[in-house]
Amino acid sequence: MSFDDRRRNVRSLLFFVVALAGTAVVSFIGSFAGAADRGELALGPRYTPTAADAALPAAPDRRPGPRVALTFDDGPSPQITPFVLDVLQAKRVRATFFVQGENAERHPELVRRMQAEGHVVANHAWQHAWFPDLTSEEAESEIRRTHELLTELTGVRPTLFRYPFGQPSPDGDAALARLGIAGGVHWKWTSNLEGDFQCPGADRMVDFVVTEAADQAMLLLHDANDVITCSPDQIQYLPRAIDQLRARGFTFGVVAPSPVRSALNSGSPAAVVP
Ligand SMILES: [Zn+2]
Repeated sequence: MSFDDRRRNVRSLLFFVVALAGTAVVSFIGSFAGAADRGELALGPRYTPTAADAALPAAPDRRPGPRVALTFDDGPSPQITPFVLDVLQAKRVRATFFVQGENAERHPELVRRMQAEGHVVANHAWQHAWFPDLTSEEAESEIRRTHELLTELTGVRPTLFRYPFGQPSPDGDAALARLGIAGGVHWKWTSNLEGDFQCPGADRMVDFVVTEAADQAMLLLHDANDVITCSPDQIQYLPRAIDQLRARGFTFGVVAPSPVRSALNSGSPAAVVP
């Protein structure tokens, strides 16, 4: 059994135990985490807004100047995503979530919350498949199944797709074209710093985000799978990194399809927009 399988089994067991314990336990966890009102299962930390957060203007920040996109892949997860959404809400930052279909099916309330709080919900395939090895039917199914679920949950047809592992395939591209989705959205990663899935910890994640930030950069971050096994305080990088980028004059945008490919983001057919 691979490490990955074991991790999934541990997660499955955890969900089974929670389910067995019944709604009383779930609502206790929910209220403890401050999430009961949303019907949201939160198994990780939550973020409490600071006085400085509360003083931020509610209107979107459309100042000219460098604009960066935070993109979160593989979620949602009850361990990480509630914290990420709390931080983004408190910091008035919109982000782009490349959602994994099977995780959206397990945690639809978190996908609905992404949409309700103004984020872009995008497609990252159903099971995080390695597309070069899929048949054309499998490629079609990975993309279409996720597309249909996200459309049902959000009421909006996703317009962006990021290949798992950034690995495209001609069959995947054909399926995306049939659905009218801009596929092959990559990211900027030009430093030799470690990314979040390599578990570098909060301090080095702040360095990663601040170092990689540039006008029009799409930063690769995660809110499920691999990062759940990192140290539980690694995710505390997020509010710190947002504050540091703001102090350097950055605003935060979301990813949108674009006819012009972005060289900065490995040829992504997309741009960062307010
Ligand atoms: Zn991924």
